Amino acid sequence: MPSPWPGSAPTAAHRAAYADASPRSFWLDTLPERPLHPPLEQARDADLCIVGGGFTGLWAALYAKELDPAREVVLLEATRCGNGASGRNGGFLEASLTHGTRNGLAHFPDEIETLERLGRENFEALARDLDELAIDAELERTGDLVVALEPREVEDLVDETELMHRFGRQVELLDGEEVRAQITSKKFISGMWTHSGSALVHPGKLADGLRAAAARAGVRIHEHSPVRAIRDRVSVITEGGMVNARGVLLATSAYAPLVPAIRRYIAPVYDYVLVTEPIDLSAAGWRSTCSTAARTRQAHSRWCATARSPSRPSRCVQRSSSSRATGWPRPTATRDAAACG
Ligand SMILES: Cc1cc2nc3c(=O)[nH]c(=O)nc-3n(C[C@H](O)[C@H](O)[C@H](O)COP(=O)(O)OP(=O)(O)OC[C@H]3O[C@@H](n4cnc5c(N)ncnc54)[C@H](O)[C@@H]3O)c2cc1C
Repeated sequence: MPSPWPGSAPTAAHRAAYADASPRSFWLDTLPERPLHPPLEQARDADLCIVGGGFTGLWAALYAKELDPAREVVLLEATRCGNGASGRNGGFLEASLTHGTRNGLAHFPDEIETLERLGRENFEALARDLDELAIDAELERTGDLVVALEPREVEDLVDETELMHRFGRQVELLDGEEVRAQITSKKFISGMWTHSGSALVHPGKLADGLRAAAARAGVRIHEHSPVRAIRDRVSVITEGGMVNARGVLLATSAYAPLVPAIRRYIAPVYDYVLVTEPIDLSAAGWRSTCSTAARTRQAHSRWCATARSPSRPSRCVQRSSSSRATGWPRPTATRDAAACG
């Protein structure tokens, strides 16, 4: 199978195509200005100190407070909450914890039933949290359309549809004409439309809403407070202060781990999100509102309205790679990228 990734470094023409792209979070750029929580500038005590203000850290802080409202929870974030992957991802929400049921079955055949159940519960719990915490993260249960471009991919889609039915997912197999009713492209010869367990979300609003909910719940948040070291049992040290905590939760994801012993367990996987300038949807022949992925191209697309131009959505494309050696740049989210899958 031909690799979807370029085998060589970008040429001057490639570089010129995205020279004016800016590596900022499109989603965070759409949020209104709001004051940051003050940096940590003193020594304080806490029951729990959380390092990292992404989805993991913010959600953990909320649950820690929910379980015991009297618990003193301090959250330290190096920059601003949501500035990591949480505020700059593609916003594709999936019930699968294994990047697809097929992939899960291949790697965890004995645990797939449990993984699928946990994934479904997690998906519904996320939606419930948004309701209960009054977070408007533009959650839309749009479903997900995977398209096939080659005959062998059609067989894969047939197999996958059967498998998804086995796990109770609402999935529909589309022929070429039915796919083209959603998106006009002669290249699409079949499709698998997943109606359940798949949604879109505004990642910036989600991170921002969690941050506000955590603050309301009494979590003490300090932004612009990078943790430099964790010492003894347990002092969490920043440039300006220190938290003496009974427990620490590291929620720093792919960032350099603060505990050397866990470094070998961290393998960053690179994802790219590119956002185009506004596009005329009818000219693009795109009528579907759900996210769309090509079976083997590892690219996921969605349309998103922009604050600048709500009626002329931009296309947001995400590609994933575990390769570190292609020499291609690694933007996280770009607002004005010309290059778009
Ligand atoms: C480009 C891209 C697209 C993605 N698309 C999707 C998608 O469509 N759907 C999906 O489900 N997942 C997607 N993901 C994955 C998803 O975004 C992440 O799994 C998730 O956001 C991780 O959240 P987190 O809180 O663990 O980490 P992060 O959001 O990265 O948060 C870690 C935080 O820790 C802070 N930090 C790091 N070091 C320190 C320190 N020393 N002191 C204090 N703070 C520190 C960072 O500043 C950061 O804010 C995507 C990821 C990327 C990068």
